[in-house]
Amino acid sequence: KAALRSSLDQLKSETLSSVDWAGTEYEWTLDVNNTLHNVFKLNYFRPQQLSAINSTLSGQHTIVVMPTGAGKSLCYQLPALVKPGITIVISPLVSLMEDQVRSLKIRNIPAMLMTSTSPKEETQAALNVLKDKDTSIKLLYVTPERLAKSKRFMSNLQKCHSDGRLQRIAIDEVHCCSQWGHDFRPDYKFLGILSNMFPKVPILGLTATATSHVLNDVQKILNIPACLVIKSTFNRPNLFYKILEKPTSQEECLNILEKLLKYRYKDETGIIYTNSIKDSEELASGLRKRGLKVGCYNANMDAKDRSKVHLKWHDKHYQTIVATVAFGMGIDKPDVRFVIHHTISKTMENYYQESGRAGRDGLRAECVTLYRMQDIFKVSAMVFSSVGDLGHLYGMVKYCITGNICRRKLIAEHFNEDWGSDDCNKMCDVCSETNLNTKEINLESYCRTLSSIIDNADQQDTKLTAQKLLDAWFLKGPVNLRHNGKSPAISRTLGEDIIAFLLVENYLIEDFHFTAYSTISYIKKGPNIEFAQDSDFSLKMPIRKYTTFELESRAPSCTLTNANIKNVTQTSNNKSSSSKMKENNKTKI
Ligand code: ADP
Ligand code: MG
Ligand code: ZN
Repeated sequence: KAALRSSLDQLKSETLSSVDWAGTEYEWTLDVNNTLHNVFKLNYFRPQQLSAINSTLSGQHTIVVMPTGAGKSLCYQLPALVKPGITIVISPLVSLMEDQVRSLKIRNIPAMLMTSTSPKEETQAALNVLKDKDTSIKLLYVTPERLAKSKRFMSNLQKCHSDGRLQRIAIDEVHCCSQWGHDFRPDYKFLGILSNMFPKVPILGLTATATSHVLNDVQKILNIPACLVIKSTFNRPNLFYKILEKPTSQEECLNILEKLLKYRYKDETGIIYTNSIKDSEELASGLRKRGLKVGCYNANMDAKDRSKVHLKWHDKHYQTIVATVAFGMGIDKPDVRFVIHHTISKTMENYYQESGRAGRDGLRAECVTLYRMQDIFKVSAMVFSSVGDLGHLYGMVKYCITGNICRRKLIAEHFNEDWGSDDCNKMCDVCSETNLNTKEINLESYCRTLSSIIDNADQQDTKLTAQKLLDAWFLKGPVNLRHNGKSPAISRTLGEDIIAFLLVENYLIEDFHFTAYSTISYIKKGPNIEFAQDSDFSLKMPIRKYTTFELESRAPSCTLTNANIKNVTQTSNNKSSSSKMKENNKTKI
């Protein structure tokens, strides 16, 4: 029975996604257009907004996946006004809800909000709205905590439903349901009961997280297997992607950042992301000493200080914020011109979200990542807890060490999209390089040498970090760990790339050990290295060329606008899920 149901759901999803939902012959079309123009004062729908609106107005469970800033709110705000009854909007951040209610009120749209900290009278008023058949309120915003913890709210909501006035339930940032997403909120799990409690009430989930395993999980948790997933393209044509070689010392990193801020990004605002509280503090104070206006933002600060820093940055008192990923949701500054990663992100998904805070206004912005091998192990020690996590980190590493494939193409792969070079338009360091190096290097003998170094260390009961392995390979460090051959005739940087490449390709693997203070990553032989002993073994790696990037001259400005965003796709989301990703929510960052 379950199998039958599941294949029926699959069939239904496929049928749903084959419908053209952007049609203009629905009974509500005229109303929808009038509301767009007269109430929201907008001229056109953005890609996929109309499909989402038609789908939810026809009573269909829908999940809308669009990049941040694409206009997801309209997909529930507008339908709320064209049908009778109330729309419940569930949203994780009080500040976001307050912003929305404020801007709705400016447009004379009756909306209200109810949070765990709302004053008593407001809570009472919100509860009454659910029972009051004559209320003018069209949208009621509520936090998932409030929903999960208030029996009164739920019973009034049931009353609202039995009176036939519960029009729809919108769940913003719906990826928060899933532990595999990057912002898991335990209270979102509770939302799974809604589809059973209120059958026939359409659920509309909205998120910027596009990975299929998260979306599948969300559908499972919300118990809406046959739902339409409307997904717009994730390509951000106005973002320029660049990898920079990261120097070994913090001082040299500061030199690079100083130049970027003083020249390339002079008078522009941006974000520098790093992966530890310590780094965020060091970099911020280092940059201040060099006369730059920077704020620091991390989870060690209390909420008040954090919002102070955020505001000062928002109002351009700070040129840049140096932050850990604690600086995330709720950033709504459209003119962020650069996002620099001082350390690689934990996953491509995280990188996409973090770098995606640049250029929301559609104008050119730059996403620069400082990469060096050593940082892999800083991050892996934080995320090693399950195999899947490392896989996601290696996706990020692959993005950094690949020198002959468009960066956009590598991002697209991650979202199961396929973007060609037209979609990049020379807006990445690889595509914009006129003199691209397409040389490859043969790794067969290097594989065998590295393998023998590891075996030799093993016999001496010694574990090798990547750094030690590299030393031994280049005939540096303790003599007893070195190999018998010659030092490889390549640069040490290329040696680092080779080790990273072999990790990503499973010729080497990381092996974690715990001390009282830290987690250390050692390098072991991976499952693929046994092939290196075969006589016909062949393994090639494209050599990355460090492309040019002027630190001391202004970034080119460009007038790409939202109108350039194209290639819209609509998919049903029943594809197989990729490996698990479990965030370590306990780590303070
Ligand atoms: P998201 O939730 O997807 O991050 P929002 O709903 O907050 O995005 O919308 C981002 C901005 O885009 C808002 O300022 C909104 O007014 C604007 N916007 C939304 N839809 C349209 C449209 N069709 N035309 C012009 N601007 C729009
Ligand atoms: Mg939003
Ligand atoms: Zn490219």
